[in-house]
Amino acid sequence: MQTDFTPAQLADPQMVAAEAVIRKCVHCGFCTATCPTYVLLGDELDSPRGRIYLMKDMLENERTPGPEVVKHIDRCLSCLSCMTTCPSGVNYMHLVDHARAYIEQRYRRPWPERMLRAVVAAILPYPARFRLALQLARLVRPIAPVLARVRMLRPAAAMLNLAPAALPPQASLTTTNAHGPRGRVVLMQGCAEPVLRPETRAASVRLLERCGYQVAFAPGEACCGALTHHMGREAQALESARRNVDVWSREIEAGLEAIIVTASGCGTTVKDYGFMLRNDPAYAAKAAKVSALARDISEVLEASGLPARADVPALNVAYHSACSMQHGQNITAAPQNLLRAAGFVVRQPVESHLCCGSAGTYNIFQPEIAGQLGARKAAAIAALKPDVVATGNIGCAMQISQHMGVPVVHIVELLDWATGGPAPLIPAAAKYKYP
Ligand code: SF4
Ligand code: SF4
Repeated sequence: MQTDFTPAQLADPQMVAAEAVIRKCVHCGFCTATCPTYVLLGDELDSPRGRIYLMKDMLENERTPGPEVVKHIDRCLSCLSCMTTCPSGVNYMHLVDHARAYIEQRYRRPWPERMLRAVVAAILPYPARFRLALQLARLVRPIAPVLARVRMLRPAAAMLNLAPAALPPQASLTTTNAHGPRGRVVLMQGCAEPVLRPETRAASVRLLERCGYQVAFAPGEACCGALTHHMGREAQALESARRNVDVWSREIEAGLEAIIVTASGCGTTVKDYGFMLRNDPAYAAKAAKVSALARDISEVLEASGLPARADVPALNVAYHSACSMQHGQNITAAPQNLLRAAGFVVRQPVESHLCCGSAGTYNIFQPEIAGQLGARKAAAIAALKPDVVATGNIGCAMQISQHMGVPVVHIVELLDWATGGPAPLIPAAAKYKYP
């Protein structure tokens, strides 16, 4: 795509990066077919190509974005399906991330939106606040239908509806394998996942130790920054990234094989720290090192291989590949191969490339589109008649659970069970007792 940025604009390295992305687009339109919002809405401006045109016009002409442009950019899930489809290598993620930060600085949203976004940014990335907020949300959930009647307050209603009916108890985790023969790894602690599903981390620790790793936690970690990054709150996201780079750099100095992430949404962002901090001389090199060591847990388990199998039933598992897993990190086979090696029967639903509608905070800020995508995904999964749904991202697990009764677990919970760990708390496993 031809661009017309001025030399003065190109003095800004952010603009140079945006221009490079835009120039790669040959406006072929292949990406439209796999874009969930274009599939649902059929509007070119809700397709990757249409959004690239909007972002090009906004950035090149230094326009103050208006509500129409913001609407179409806000509707983008950042699912990155377009990046998988694009034959020209357009890095849509870096372009839309930049456009979101640009919009955040120049567009004044209506006050209910501003307030809600501030609340989300101040709560979700902090586990203690998030847990408290979920407990309060349960108390005020009865007013959600009233809020849903006012268009501007629908995101607040969606947030209340997303709060689970009960929270699992928080267990303190201990690691035991002081000298793992495969080396030392840091398991990222995350923010939403340990609050909503602490079983995932517990299973991850057991499984990694069984595979021969010495598992460590890095004190002082922050949220990966993905939630605020996707909201355009660049300064807050970069602050989180810098803090994690500092914390993990200390661990790298002590010797580290990998930084393991169990939520693929977070993994995609940590793997991008090198790019996010590329213009910060104090952090660029350290951030690149951190990104190079970041691994989804399925990558590490595939490399090490699973230990001997326990006698578990060959449950029918529907594998839901999170967008951040398949499009953000290009990990498609590893989670399914591991589940099959563990003895499960694994199938993927039709339209497995399409987003479930979770997409970080998307199901709060765009509840209608998220609801349609969630129902569509649940119907595709239900057609497989699975005993359980397995995924690698907590956001997807919560979103899919909203739309269907089949339990949704992280793949590590099944793999841990299949290699000698406790059975996950799902009906299909209830009759099997393991230590
Ligand atoms: S597929 Fe790639 S090159 Fe083609 S329109 Fe979409 S982003 Fe542009
Ligand atoms: S990131 Fe997803 S929703 Fe956004 S333009 Fe690309 S395919 Fe469409």
